[in-house]
Amino acid sequence: MPNIAKIKKQLEEKLRELTARAEEIDDDLSRAADDDWEEHAVEAEGDEVLEQVGDVTLDEIRQIKYALNQIEAGTYGVCTTCEGPIGKERLEALPFATRCIACS
Ligand SMILES: [Zn+2]
Repeated sequence: MPNIAKIKKQLEEKLRELTARAEEIDDDLSRAADDDWEEHAVEAEGDEVLEQVGDVTLDEIRQIKYALNQIEAGTYGVCTTCEGPIGKERLEALPFATRCIACS
């Protein structure tokens, strides 16, 4: 089994970082919406990028929360598809992996 306490700490740190980033993106997007149309046209491209970054960030936040729930439930490291072990090395590389290499 991987070192759960260490992984939990990593996940919590990452979650804090991502939450802060998601809030920043949110701020940027609402600020951009207040600009007049001329400026907005120039910035529209940047907004799309921001929204994509936001989606990825929210997705990662979801995955990390899920992994933390699994730790609490004692099911961490179990593949959600085949219910086999995900593997220590994979979890160390990707602590919020929910599927083993064969199922991902
Ligand atoms: Zn599997």
